[in-house]
Amino acid sequence: MDLLIVGSGFFGLTIAERAAAAGRKVTVIDRRHHIGGNAYSEDEPETGIEVHRYGAHLFHTSNATVWEYVNRFTAFTDYVHRVYTNHKGVVFPLPINLGTINQFFQAAHSPAEAMALVQELAGEFDVKTAANLEEKGIALIGRPLYEAFIRDYTAKQWQTDPKDLPAEVISRLPVRYNYDNRYFNDTWEGLPVDGYTAWLERMADHPNIDVRLSTDFFDESQPFNKQATVGQLPIVYTGPVDRYFDYVEGELSWRTLDFEEEVVPVGDYQGTSVMNYADADVPYTRVHEFRHFHPERADRYPTDKTVIMREFSRFATREDEPYYPVNTPQDRTGLLAYRELAKGEDGVHFGGRLGTYQYLDMHMAIGSALSMWSNQLA
Ligand code: FAD
Ligand code: UDP
Repeated sequence: MDLLIVGSGFFGLTIAERAAAAGRKVTVIDRRHHIGGNAYSEDEPETGIEVHRYGAHLFHTSNATVWEYVNRFTAFTDYVHRVYTNHKGVVFPLPINLGTINQFFQAAHSPAEAMALVQELAGEFDVKTAANLEEKGIALIGRPLYEAFIRDYTAKQWQTDPKDLPAEVISRLPVRYNYDNRYFNDTWEGLPVDGYTAWLERMADHPNIDVRLSTDFFDESQPFNKQATVGQLPIVYTGPVDRYFDYVEGELSWRTLDFEEEVVPVGDYQGTSVMNYADADVPYTRVHEFRHFHPERADRYPTDKTVIMREFSRFATREDEPYYPVNTPQDRTGLLAYRELAKGEDGVHFGGRLGTYQYLDMHMAIGSALSMWSNQLA
């Protein structure tokens, strides 16, 4: 074995695939019973509808290198992601666009009129100097739209006062003064034609790659554990960085999600793939309906049943799956301390979402693994 990879998510599999293609022998371990990390999906048994086990995953990128790379393993459908939100029992289009603004104010404003209105309603705050999520939200869309669509949704998702959240959290969400309601701005977008798991398995399908599932790096009863391997061969570690160092610098905080899945006896539950719930009185943040991610499979999917998943958000404990880094000032201090420790860990390369304590979209995880391979490992 030339390389041990801890974690079979997109980061670990990209390194494994590159190393195997270069003639190296690689072992990939994962503590879960399946490959693929959070992008893993499987068919719901009663309906055959593909369900993304760890929350809906939409692939999008503007990085030509990543796009060329991923297309070696899967073709993509022409799915374009669109999201709607329910506020006080009325459905509005997201991200906030001219359609949302005009429906909210029961108006027919032109782009220039809507911009002037928002500027007037943003009042005291400026996008450039906004100090936290609340100020940034108000600066971007004005107080009434902020209070309707952002404030309570964000409070549900983060259980943190928006005044204490970094402004960057909503920078991902565009505001548009036209009727374009594509959720993502990227050049390429789509879903893997035969599902995420087929894509992930193809990346690992090489005689030089040995995948061991249900194998925890910290379990000393299995041969590929930390004690036995560090210092013996190069390791790419994509698990949580604080866990690697036994939490000596404290725990980094994460949000986790709880999913409530239901097979509903109707052909179409909500008419779209994702419906957000903006208000505080609905306990979940959004409802996914998986059949709508693959309209091209309409003839394969049942017409009298559908799979929905309600998504609830809360702080993670050590036992929960870590999903989104919270990134409080204390977390950032802790992360710097862990980065220093990581530098001293000979032959161990920390990567991926958990290993770097960073929110990474799939294309970012793949892109950063390709860079790690060519700059440090190759
Ligand atoms: P992961 O996929 O988390 O893989 C890490 C692996 O390491 C896991 O399989 C874990 O079991 C394993 N591991 C951890 N500790 C150990 C240990 N001790 N021993 C052995 N194995 C271990 N990205 C998008 O581009 N579009 C989306 O729409 C999107 N939606 C998302 C929705 C949610 C709810 C979440 C959480 C993420 C979403 N992402 C999305 C991000 C996407 O999941 C990540 O980019 C991707 O998972 C990153 O891959 P990774 O390999 O870094 O981490
Ligand atoms: N957001 C919101 N209302 C919405 C959708 C998003 O307030 O209807 C805010 C919220 O703070 C969220 C952020 O925008 O955390 C980013 O949204 P995105 O949909 O990218 O979140 P993700 O899918 O990554 O959870």
